[in-house]
Amino acid sequence: MYPKIDPTVEYDGPVAEFASFTGSPLWGYGIEGVLERAVTQGWTVSSRERLNTPYGLSPLVVHLVAANGRDVIWIPSYGEVLGEDSLYHLNFEKCFWVIWQAGVKVMMVGGTSGIADWRQGDIAVRPGDVVLPWSFYTRPVHRGLPGTQFESMWSKCRFLLGDPFCPELQTLMASKLAPYAQSGQIRKVRTPADTRVAMIVPESITFESDFDILHWMAVSKMASEFQPDRPPIVTLHGDCLNPLLSRYLGIHVLYYHMVSNYAHGLEPEHDIHSTINHLYTEVFPEIALSLELELLASMPVPDGGGCQCTSSLGVAPPVFSQSLTQPA
Ligand SMILES: [Zn+2]
Repeated sequence: MYPKIDPTVEYDGPVAEFASFTGSPLWGYGIEGVLERAVTQGWTVSSRERLNTPYGLSPLVVHLVAANGRDVIWIPSYGEVLGEDSLYHLNFEKCFWVIWQAGVKVMMVGGTSGIADWRQGDIAVRPGDVVLPWSFYTRPVHRGLPGTQFESMWSKCRFLLGDPFCPELQTLMASKLAPYAQSGQIRKVRTPADTRVAMIVPESITFESDFDILHWMAVSKMASEFQPDRPPIVTLHGDCLNPLLSRYLGIHVLYYHMVSNYAHGLEPEHDIHSTINHLYTEVFPEIALSLELELLASMPVPDGGGCQCTSSLGVAPPVFSQSLTQPA
């Protein structure tokens, strides 16, 4: 079942400290539209190709160079390939192998999502908000990098998943988003200080069922009641590109989500199709691309002093690994 891994493959792609995996916020432009706009803003497209990896041919890897000379990698749409199921084709593994080899230190991911907020009124997270998430629901696909030193962890080392999304970069992103909220182009900027938003990825190939959403709302409401002195918890349903492997590789993750719809079944009168199409084509792309190009060209690599992204990895005593079957 598992595809053959070729460990002899050598990386021959671009080197960069910054990468973007942003997808649906830019779907209103398509890949060509994004690149055309980047070029008009002084960026150079240095290369665009699918690279060899130990797991097969990677998704498209675009090497962009900012006007100030900074190298940036853009892998469109979370590494998804048209018509292919990402799990079957190991897209995530291919992408993470590429950014590990490229030396990426900061990974930016923009997604769009449905919101399942159990609260009512203006306080609730709604379509048109931009969310800087608090946490996420781990999934079986949030694993290591097969065939590399990052495949497994337990006996060698351990890392923790507190603040999985770089708080330092989140603060920077919130300040960049604020003018868009003030001008009414987006509704509100939601940070973990006002609502603890957890990201959930649908387990199937479409949106969740009515029951799935009620399940998560019940969990969120009850969890919020457990911690009444902390910001309420709600769930956001969309993408969540392996924060676990990012941390294992020592990469700071800047994740943002543009809320495009209420989660399925939440608002009977809500037409998901028309809301998504309008926001995707008319609202999100201009804001997302402008923010991405500015931040990718200018944001720093955090030194780790204000986040756990690169500091939560702890090395285990060697005797732990001596307690397992040794590799042949
Ligand atoms: Zn960080």
